[in-house]
Amino acid sequence: MKIIEKILEMQSIILNLKKKSKKIGFVPTMGALHEGHLSLIREARKENDIVVVSIFVNPIQFGPNEDLNKYPRTFESDKKNLEREKVDFLFFPTPMEMYPEGFETYVNLKKLPYHLCGLSRPGHFEGVATVVAKLFNIVMPDNAYFGQKDYQQAKIIERMVLDLNFKINIKIMPIVREKDGLAMSSRNSYLTTEERKKALCLYQALQKAKEMIEKGEIKIDVIKKEMEKTIKEIAPDANIDYIAIVHPDTLSELSVVEKRVVVALAVFIGSTRLIDNFIIERS
Ligand code: AMP
Repeated sequence: MKIIEKILEMQSIILNLKKKSKKIGFVPTMGALHEGHLSLIREARKENDIVVVSIFVNPIQFGPNEDLNKYPRTFESDKKNLEREKVDFLFFPTPMEMYPEGFETYVNLKKLPYHLCGLSRPGHFEGVATVVAKLFNIVMPDNAYFGQKDYQQAKIIERMVLDLNFKINIKIMPIVREKDGLAMSSRNSYLTTEERKKALCLYQALQKAKEMIEKGEIKIDVIKKEMEKTIKEIAPDANIDYIAIVHPDTLSELSVVEKRVVVALAVFIGSTRLIDNFIIERS
């Protein structure tokens, strides 16, 4: 695996590969890789000639009181994992390489960021859309892989690709979970043993919603109350950021369950903010 730190070098390698008609698959990450990331990489490996992974902890998507400085950085073990998965190129730029002095162009969406996580993380999705647009122009992939774990992010990228005419297929892959159901996340490493047990409240609340919908419950306020009860039973001191049941494309909150909905939530376990979601189809 070749590690590339410079934008111009990455672009010139890709342009050469494209001349040889190689199909490029791309997986953007912030590192601290786990099985969730590796599932995207394995899919990319299956569907492309060349696999590029980026590791970049993107400063412009973190709010002033968020965890940019303590975000886990595990470069050596990430590198081993990527080599094991037969990744061809690791793009690993510095913040200065991505945002040199004078940088002032940002990508903004009008509606999709103003739901779910966007409400409690102002500016977050502007940072995400901007860095992904830059990475797409650097790596020029045919296929790019994102996780359903960050559902809103994936929908925003899909929209941006349509709106800005990137010729890239966006593939959204299922959430990889621990044995007990906790969605894998780099941020799980912040949890103490006690918090790790409480973190299961997100998955359990989603399971509760699924059961209720399967039994025919359609009133969203009723479902949300039960989800809250489940969370409080497992983690009485958890701080619920939001619980929402939304339209899968617009992300607007619904009042009754439609044919296909996304149930999503964000909960602080101690100081760690965790997110999770289920896509649920009503039979
Ligand atoms: P991150 O490093 O957290 O920015 O994540 C990089 C990519 O991996 C994003 O597209 C995430 O949605 C995806 N991802 C993170 N956790 C998981 C998971 N548990 N299952 C599947 N994909 C994931």
